[in-house]
Amino acid sequence: MANLNEEIIYTYKDKAYLNITNKCPCACTFCIRSQKDAIGSAENLWLNHNPSFDEVAKAIDDFDFDGYDEVIFCGYGEPTNSFDVLVKTAKYLREKIGIKLRVNTNGLGNLINDRDITQELCSSVDAVSISLNCSNKEDYLNTVRPRFGIESYDAMLDFAKKCRALTDNVMLSVVDVIGEDEIAKCQKIADSINIPLRVRKFSS
Ligand code: SF4
Repeated sequence: MANLNEEIIYTYKDKAYLNITNKCPCACTFCIRSQKDAIGSAENLWLNHNPSFDEVAKAIDDFDFDGYDEVIFCGYGEPTNSFDVLVKTAKYLREKIGIKLRVNTNGLGNLINDRDITQELCSSVDAVSISLNCSNKEDYLNTVRPRFGIESYDAMLDFAKKCRALTDNVMLSVVDVIGEDEIAKCQKIADSINIPLRVRKFSS
């Protein structure tokens, strides 16, 4: 197994990624975690334990960010599940490197943390990408399988709207496997809350 530093930071194309937790309240049917142990440069994104901020900072200190134009909080887990570490790490990266920061999230951070984290999140990073995944709460429940149940879809949309009120740099995403009709419905939802929709290619 790779050492913890290697597992915390991995790269894919011209981006560097931070894998700060394996915790996630969902079990998406398409989650890459159920298919392989790593993506990009990583060998194994399953962490031995949830890293502390000091461990993440050490991984950052040991990594050469030359040639990377963005750091993205996106690993084998939901980054807002380790929100305190995320916020401290974002501050550390801004002070140390001054690189653009993005969070890829399932948008359930307010439920996970049992409080509204959007203000703190949007002031900590430059961009927030939220997984919309489906056009309605029933499909979302069956596809994302969140432990918070049927309220999750509305909570995710509310999270997206709150972020949109705080910053222009919010996007929603879907995976292309949902099909053209469903993508069109998701586009309508995204348009109705004035957030761009990104259609991601499913990678297996
Ligand atoms: S929210 Fe992300 S990490 Fe969690 S199960 Fe879904 S795809 Fe996997």
